[in-house]
Amino acid sequence: MTFRNFKMVGYVVYGRGCFNQLDELLAPHRKGDAPMIFLLDHYFENRPLARRIPLRGKDKVIFADVSYEPKTSYVDRLATELKQEFGTVSGIIGIGGGSTMDLAKAVSLMMTNPGSSADYQGWDLVKLPGVYKVGIPTLSGTGAEVSRTTVLTGPTKKLGMNSDFTPFDQIVLDPELTADAPVNQRFYTGMDCYIHCIESLEGTYLNEFSKSYGEKALQLCQEVYVKKQGWDADSDDKLMMASYAGGMSIAYSQVGVAHAVSYGLAYLLGTKHGIGNCIVFDKLEEFYPEGVREFKKMVEKNKIDIPQHITKGLTDEQFNTMIDVSLVMKPLWENALGKDWEKIMTRDRLRALYEKL
Ligand code: NAD
Ligand code: ZN
Repeated sequence: MTFRNFKMVGYVVYGRGCFNQLDELLAPHRKGDAPMIFLLDHYFENRPLARRIPLRGKDKVIFADVSYEPKTSYVDRLATELKQEFGTVSGIIGIGGGSTMDLAKAVSLMMTNPGSSADYQGWDLVKLPGVYKVGIPTLSGTGAEVSRTTVLTGPTKKLGMNSDFTPFDQIVLDPELTADAPVNQRFYTGMDCYIHCIESLEGTYLNEFSKSYGEKALQLCQEVYVKKQGWDADSDDKLMMASYAGGMSIAYSQVGVAHAVSYGLAYLLGTKHGIGNCIVFDKLEEFYPEGVREFKKMVEKNKIDIPQHITKGLTDEQFNTMIDVSLVMKPLWENALGKDWEKIMTRDRLRALYEKL
């Protein structure tokens, strides 16, 4: 098909306190006594949010360990254990940052698809719809709540399960849930959204659909990080919608250089998505001059540290691993640099870029 016919999220509820409506939202999707499984970011263990989960019958809360970004092995283990314990479940509800939401999407898909989640890393490889799935962000920025992918690190690659079966059936956007996030983490994840906007708006795949969402998301990021003094409830409201719109923008375009390069860092060094993108974007003046200038301003204004020299002392083999992982991301490079990207982003040039980080 020439034009992408993409699947979107089924239902969206937005507003401060809308998390309280979760029980009602889930009720029609309960199948007999098959439980709802709540994958809750481990940060919330013993915190008030854990006590607000509307448990019924055999429902279960699993604290998602997101010390590392989701791995295919973790997804497979969770799905296997759930199948052993319950046979089938009514749904999977992911409550947390991008990592927990991605885990929830992947576990939902692996409740019905055979084999390992690693078999489905790529584009349109998933064969069957998963079980009912709900995404509830507690950090804003990744756009994982709206995307048709779930980013997983597998035995040989870091790549998403991109498919029409991947988007959530329901998302619950309650900005109150992001209120207590630590300043640095909130910045790194928020900058993921800012970088999505720049990469989408500056990319060759751009069209009016992506532009409309990208410009709005960018404006919201600028209001939060450039214009406002301090952080308040309105900042949480705005950033949550920026994340949503930023995700919608890349749905019909692509991300670019920062993401392609940071995937290599993540694979080799385990650098997390938000901070990794910031480390890379900081050095991308040649590709995104205006965006990088504004980014540096936001870093300064918000008093954030961007780690430096993280690739110092790596071996040739390690640099080559990062380069290999990065160059697999063909659509990202093509969006950033055009059809001839392979001539522009040679291995030597990419190595020089990695050495700057
Ligand atoms: P995260 O989910 O990895 O969480 C980062 C840290 O913040 C964790 O320690 C977590 O426990 C903590 N945390 C979460 N919510 C909190 C809160 N309200 N208060 C305090 N701490 C909180 O971070 P992220 O930046 O949201 O997500 C990054 C992940 O998202 C990566 O795995 C990346 O691959 C993925 N991602 C997915 C997509 C997609 O389209 N599917 C897009 C971009 C990124
Ligand atoms: Zn991103």
